[in-house]
Amino acid sequence: LPKMFQDAIPLLKKIEQAGYQAFFVGGSVRDYLLGRQINDVDIATSAFPEEIKSIFPRTADIGIEHGTVLVIEKEGEYEITTFRTESGYDDFRRPDRVEFIRSLEDDLMRRDFTMNSMAMDAEGVIYDPFDGRGDIKQKLIRTVGEPAERFSEDALRMLRGVRFVSQLGFELEAGTREALTAYSNLLSHIAIERKTIEFEKTISGHYRDKAFEILIQSTLYKQLPGLSGESEAIRKIARLPLVKRLNADQMWLLLTASMDADPSVFLKMWRLPSKVIKERNKEKDILSRRMKEGWTRELLFHSGLERAVNVEKVYNCILSSNSPIESLLEKYEALPIKDRKELNVTGNDLMNWSGKAGGPWVKETLEGIEKAILNEEITNDHDTIRRWLETCNPSEKN
Ligand code: ATP
Ligand code: MG
Repeated sequence: LPKMFQDAIPLLKKIEQAGYQAFFVGGSVRDYLLGRQINDVDIATSAFPEEIKSIFPRTADIGIEHGTVLVIEKEGEYEITTFRTESGYDDFRRPDRVEFIRSLEDDLMRRDFTMNSMAMDAEGVIYDPFDGRGDIKQKLIRTVGEPAERFSEDALRMLRGVRFVSQLGFELEAGTREALTAYSNLLSHIAIERKTIEFEKTISGHYRDKAFEILIQSTLYKQLPGLSGESEAIRKIARLPLVKRLNADQMWLLLTASMDADPSVFLKMWRLPSKVIKERNKEKDILSRRMKEGWTRELLFHSGLERAVNVEKVYNCILSSNSPIESLLEKYEALPIKDRKELNVTGNDLMNWSGKAGGPWVKETLEGIEKAILNEEITNDHDTIRRWLETCNPSEKN
């Protein structure tokens, strides 16, 4: 068993010794059977939250109304969730009632897809009442029970299905796929934040091209912020040969650029953090300059390395070109200065030298100096700059 499981086995044993059942459940069991790396292990138990709290000395109530207690042991921190059923999904999203139960199988039944509805005990024995292993073997994503019913209970499951297509490259089982199309409009009931979590995983997955096609075919894309009129742009992105090389940040930039959207409108609709939106905004401007004029020293200087790399990767993807990132790095390394702070002259120097009071001319002159240094007209040397200013003062016009 992977170390992640090994480390948590003492917790399972402790719960068992207290007379309850405990299992690994959900994504960790799925990923283990797939041979994929495990992110975190979720533990499910027949013990009720208060019972878990009496077994472990250090706990935190992180979602006790849903049955989840955080257990803090020397092995690490683990979310332990009581077996439960859910009912009364009147709003197509969250259950009105959760009921704690003692049966593993009933807990597995409330889960979304067969591959996510398996459990494993401390001995490594797998419990798989819905034949998740059979579906994994066939590379199929299939809801537990009737897809129409399961998607009506919680419409986010549709987007989760697409997300798993993107991560695993599996197909949606036929009935599941049909229900996805038939019920796609229910996704409108889901909070943006939940959609964003799944969509970010979708745009980052190895099989994102496949997932994008499904978003279009199922018409699910119409329920996603800013994408409703954009089937052509989405399809085009799906078919870009290099699209798999991009990370999530770069994918957001690609989406924004492909639709020629304003990042501060489009990305805001997704409720991305304002810092992230600002970055993509800058990168979109840099991208359009890079398209027009290539990487001038000034553009590279003003971009900074991180933005330049993001932009170049997206540029390569859009044009299916292969401008090597290494040569961009070399170009950046060769810049005489990489930051305004490196200038060997300050605004105060300028004012002292000229005897003039401060004003917009200071900034303009500094920019002129910066440009001359970048273009290697002068070196970044205090006296050289002073002499250069005296002979061909760029702020004369002020
Ligand atoms: P990841 O590896 O990305 O974390 P995951 O399958 O573990 O994938 P989580 O969101 O962490 O996904 O959820 C853990 C488990 O909870 C799932 O495997 C599934 O069994 C169940 N689950 C999560 N969301 C839903 C949902 N909307 N409806 C039903 N079951 C769900
Ligand atoms: Mg998980």
